[in-house]
Amino acid sequence: MSQFIANYLKKVQAYQPGEQPKPGEYIKLNTNENPFPPPPEVSKIVENYANHLHLYSDTSCKKLTKAFSDRYEISTDSVLFGNGSDEILAFCFLAYGPDCGVRFPTISYGFYQVFADLFQVKQEKMPLNLDFTINPSDYLGAMKTVLLANPNAPTGLALSLVQIREILEGNPENIVIIDEAYVDFGGESAVILTKTYKNLIVTGTFSKSRNLAGARLGYAVAHPSLIQDLNKVKYSFNPYNVNTLTQAAGVASLENEAYFQDCRDEIIRNRSYLAENLQKIGFSPLDSQANFLFTTHENLSGPFLYQALKERKILVRHFDENPIENYLRITIGTREQMDVLLLKLEEIVEESHA
Ligand SMILES: *Cc1c(COP(=O)(O)O)cnc(C)c1O
Repeated sequence: MSQFIANYLKKVQAYQPGEQPKPGEYIKLNTNENPFPPPPEVSKIVENYANHLHLYSDTSCKKLTKAFSDRYEISTDSVLFGNGSDEILAFCFLAYGPDCGVRFPTISYGFYQVFADLFQVKQEKMPLNLDFTINPSDYLGAMKTVLLANPNAPTGLALSLVQIREILEGNPENIVIIDEAYVDFGGESAVILTKTYKNLIVTGTFSKSRNLAGARLGYAVAHPSLIQDLNKVKYSFNPYNVNTLTQAAGVASLENEAYFQDCRDEIIRNRSYLAENLQKIGFSPLDSQANFLFTTHENLSGPFLYQALKERKILVRHFDENPIENYLRITIGTREQMDVLLLKLEEIVEESHA
């Protein structure tokens, strides 16, 4: 840091992304990316659009908005796109954080804390239940913006739509944001509720279930009045926030629904396969509705397992943070990747008995 940095920034702990090693060096199960490439149509985009890159991208994301609103059966003025859903969440903090503050769980997506610090928004963190579930009644009558990931990260546990509705009913005076980064892997989407509740914002991303993490594309779905608020932030910050290639990749993804479903179904199958086989060697994975498993072992510590896997060229995520220090978050990959992972874990468990 230099001596010139603003005072408030000195105290901000920046987000620590999972390690990004050289391609091929590790089996990479640490950042919840999709193990499958984007649909084949995406590979033509660079060629087709290279000649358009001298012009600014479409600030209104017109084609993408049309394709998305058709697919999700919403009106075109109910959606806004961002440079990843991280940017959408930043817009939400800027629009709905300053006056009332934000309430979110102690164990959740790490970026919530970072944004609250960066934008100097008051934060109230609610502990999870002992079984890592979220207690909906902790979020009633909040009088501040409520922010929940559903399914939650890094647990993978999901609230039902009935519980989300209960939270919405209990917060008529403030905004409720449901971050659905992982919803396609088994959760129930609250997008449908945005037609009824004018205080609900649902955010989502093309990074996980749509195989486009590197393209950076996220969205918010909400009542048009809320989308106008978020647009005000966007046009005050970066009107060209979604680049031309990414807009086209998003359209291509939405146009190949079969590919999306095939990849998702395979990941859900691999998740069950991994969970079953982990249980046989002393692990207790939580009941994940996401593209990762959050798991602890009956007698091996989190840091030990993380390190032992890394030595065997497999990267998973470990959070050095009470009460989850003995848990690993393992991204669901291809069947082959899951088999190598299981083989290495069996080896590690064996060796530790010797
Ligand atoms: C991955 C993730 C995001 C951000 O995704 P982007 O790549 O920025 O679209 C947001 N929320 C949660 C809970 C996530 O896990």
